[in-house]
Amino acid sequence: MTRKERYTYIIDYFQKNAPNAETELIYDNPYQLLVAVILSAQCTDKRVNLTTPAIFHRYPTAEKLSKASFDELFPLIRSISYPNNKTKHLIGMANMLVENFEGNVPMTVSELITLPGVGRKTANVITSVVDEQPNMAVDTHVFRVSARIGLTLNATTPLAAEKQLIKFIPKNLIHKAHHWLILHGRYVCIARKPKCDECGIREACKYFEKLNH
Ligand code: SF4
Repeated sequence: MTRKERYTYIIDYFQKNAPNAETELIYDNPYQLLVAVILSAQCTDKRVNLTTPAIFHRYPTAEKLSKASFDELFPLIRSISYPNNKTKHLIGMANMLVENFEGNVPMTVSELITLPGVGRKTANVITSVVDEQPNMAVDTHVFRVSARIGLTLNATTPLAAEKQLIKFIPKNLIHKAHHWLILHGRYVCIARKPKCDECGIREACKYFEKLNH
């Protein structure tokens, strides 16, 4: 199977089987999503979802969050990974939203990456989830799954993988393909032992092909 054929097969499969794939983070508006995505670095969405209601209740806007002190916010974040840095990032991010963006979340990758705690991956998530922009966030799941399937070839960095993926995936599906690959990596093509026997795309998977020849 050629790489192009793998893409076609996999896109068809997910369009049929996961047409409404979306983020598992719970949020109501771009500000809440940005907070949740910053908190989700090196942490499960499940744990983030347990943490965010109290944060959103106490700090419903960027303006309110910008006035939080470290000691006020830290206890709400204590149970997730890297609470020190994330507390600082959230307050810094909120301050910058207020100072530079009138308290609103900007919707370009170049503006978003100026915010504390926001790298290219986070900026791609925000713009693709909120605005359906054709930006592919490559996290550890997307990176691993894409390489295993054979969607990416010899990509050594997330940016290299991102460039290959957006070259082959139709523009209007990129925002969705991100969730397809993440969820597949989270529940089926898991890091230690992929569940190939129950995988619906094994016919198009390079890893599976090699295992069986
Ligand atoms: S066949 Fe196995 S390695 Fe390939 S995508 Fe499915 S679970 Fe992952």
